Amino acid sequence: MSDKSEWTEATWNPLRGCSKVSDGCRNCYAETVANRYSGPGMPYEGTITDGRWNGIIRLVPDALIKPVRWRRPRRIFVNSMSDLFHPEVPQAYIDKVFAVIALAPQHTFQILTKRPERMLHYLQGLEKRGAHQLLADAAEAVTGDEDAGIFVANRISAGASSKPGWPLKNVWLGVSVENQKAADVRMPLLLETPAAVRWLSCEPLLGEVDLFKAGGLQGGAVGETEFDAHGLVDWVVVGGESGHKARPMIPDWARSLRDQCQAAGVPFLFKQWGEWRQTHDLCAGQPGYIGKQWFTWDPDTSMCRVGRAAAGRELDGRIWDEYPD
Ligand code: SF4
Repeated sequence: MSDKSEWTEATWNPLRGCSKVSDGCRNCYAETVANRYSGPGMPYEGTITDGRWNGIIRLVPDALIKPVRWRRPRRIFVNSMSDLFHPEVPQAYIDKVFAVIALAPQHTFQILTKRPERMLHYLQGLEKRGAHQLLADAAEAVTGDEDAGIFVANRISAGASSKPGWPLKNVWLGVSVENQKAADVRMPLLLETPAAVRWLSCEPLLGEVDLFKAGGLQGGAVGETEFDAHGLVDWVVVGGESGHKARPMIPDWARSLRDQCQAAGVPFLFKQWGEWRQTHDLCAGQPGYIGKQWFTWDPDTSMCRVGRAAAGRELDGRIWDEYPD
């Protein structure tokens, strides 16, 4: 999925391994990392064939309990090295992941998937199967402690109708949206999924995305008049690609998403440019730009490959670091 960075404070990897599903996966960062540690006896052994994810998932049950032991509250990205809703992840194991989330209300868990159809079916199914009992049993199985199960059952079934215990408040469910096609397919599935907070990760952003058209934002302009624009998603994160084969992001794609979020009052976080930064052809002969790779869309939009750190994360002269309430 992605490495730890500004928008999250910790990563938690109870799974290892994946397989590619869409254009956003092409230069998968996790695959590159796993490749380095896939030799005999290494953590990613068996998940990589000929340098590529092979679809084999390794469960890491010893890692399940970790967030419960972290006392200081933090935003935790779940599975930077896999996809929780990959078809090879057993349902009972996903139950355990959600049980740990219920056991650690001090944290906020950020889940991101490119398989929102399974996420939807899982969450709807969990409700039908009886979330409080299933997750209570899973919590007991993870901890070996009956009290943990009681805590989870109480947490889910407690709460007034104005403040229900389900869906869990401390988990944000998100989908990756790299282009319009992904938005059109994944957004409706996300919106159907029972969740307290829904979010989008537009990274790596590979094309223009209209969130109004895809249904994540509603309202907008009628003629000259703005009316009632609002978000059905609660948070949008945008970023360019990083890594050896990173593709450049046209600045106007990022600007457009920022403007759409602002129009609808949805928090917007600009994570990074990635490896490429917008600059002008005239800079090509200046120190710092000499010998670097260039990419030009039109006379006004030239990107230079300056590296992730140098490209930074300012958009139009400021940092965009907004979060859901
Ligand atoms: S879903 Fe995420 S982890 Fe899996 S291949 Fe795609 S980018 Fe990589």
